[in-house]
Amino acid sequence: MSEITPYQIAIEQLERAARIAEIDPQAIEILKHPQRVIRVSIPVRMDNGSIKVFTGYRSQHNNALGPYKGGVRYHPNVTMDEVIALSMWMTWKVSLAGLPLGGGKGGVAVNPKELSKGELERLTRGYVRAIAPFIGPDVDVPAPDVGTDAQVMAWFLDEYEKVVRATRKGVVTSKPVELGGSLGRIYSTGYGVAVITREAVKEFLEEKSPEELTVAIQGYGNVGSYTAIFLHEMGFKIVAVSDSKGGIYSKDGLDPKKVLEHKKKTRSVVGYKEAKTITNKELLELDIDILIPAALENVITSENMKNIKAKLIVEGANGPTTPEAEEYLFKEKKSLVVPDFLANAGGVIVSFFEQVQNWTWTQWSEDEVKRRLEAQMITAFKKVVDEWNRLDKKVVLRDAAMSIAVRRVADAMKLRGWY
Ligand code: GLU
Repeated sequence: MSEITPYQIAIEQLERAARIAEIDPQAIEILKHPQRVIRVSIPVRMDNGSIKVFTGYRSQHNNALGPYKGGVRYHPNVTMDEVIALSMWMTWKVSLAGLPLGGGKGGVAVNPKELSKGELERLTRGYVRAIAPFIGPDVDVPAPDVGTDAQVMAWFLDEYEKVVRATRKGVVTSKPVELGGSLGRIYSTGYGVAVITREAVKEFLEEKSPEELTVAIQGYGNVGSYTAIFLHEMGFKIVAVSDSKGGIYSKDGLDPKKVLEHKKKTRSVVGYKEAKTITNKELLELDIDILIPAALENVITSENMKNIKAKLIVEGANGPTTPEAEEYLFKEKKSLVVPDFLANAGGVIVSFFEQVQNWTWTQWSEDEVKRRLEAQMITAFKKVVDEWNRLDKKVVLRDAAMSIAVRRVADAMKLRGWY
């Protein structure tokens, strides 16, 4: 673990962008602070009759471009610091993707794997009641993140509608399709990561075709598993994947769908028969072409940066690389990091499509969702490459992406008269 916190990292990234893009220091001063952070206590009746109190947060970083948008995380390590950083990263993500949305994020410090389904439902309903006065379809719209899924969103919607005594489908996204969710939302983040990886290979590893390139993916949840499945379909060779219990490696390549079946049965990728067991640390340091961290923050740090061999790192997770490691990889190893808020924007882009469908009482076909998602991801990628070229390729890709994202928010704040 690195000694620097996610919020400190987010501030450092913002300050770098401010210098490079020459953004008004007054705007930067505003953007360093979340507009509002809500901290709530959620008492939950556990199955054994006892009461346990969980702590939850919602950070609303900036809404100059539109309603706050971002997931809710259920993880034992959730802290206010982390939630604020994640909400700031959402502001850049929606801005770069060109969406009319702001940045927000929520979280509850809990290990959802230790709760029964009933306990999880009561926790979710308690969290919703606590934050209900501060959210809404045109105020702040949550979605899933690490440890939450479409079922949690269904309870979320139901509880919110009970509180406000009206139907409000648009209060959350990534709902089950039966309750107004968008087709394609379930795999949209992974699909987007795969599309960006394919585009980054064309742009940065010119001479190589997918078949010649090896990929390792850390994390086999919603993001990691779908990224693996789509990259495999595109022809890439997935040689290693992992989850919180450990990793697997096969020189000849894995079949991601079969690995997922194994994980569904046994709760881990470990033990998959046609592969050798490795640790998460080993996975990150493998001699491969493309590394995709798709789990949590702070995994590529000053401690292991010297051992990272991948030439291209595509961030499926939010915040997996520290600024120091990113700079080192770029300067010393000539490796490029495609930043999280570009690479993993597919989820929130389809969340926005879901909002549009909810507002207009329509349902788009899966093909339409996929086509629009791909187009929007490629547009954002091209904008970043153009900006990077304009900056003579002297800075890390994140700096170029941040310049575009922060400038758009700063312009909106200026027009509103915030500075
Ligand atoms: N939690 C996802 C993210 O980090 C999705 C957010 C959303 O759909 O609002 O981008």
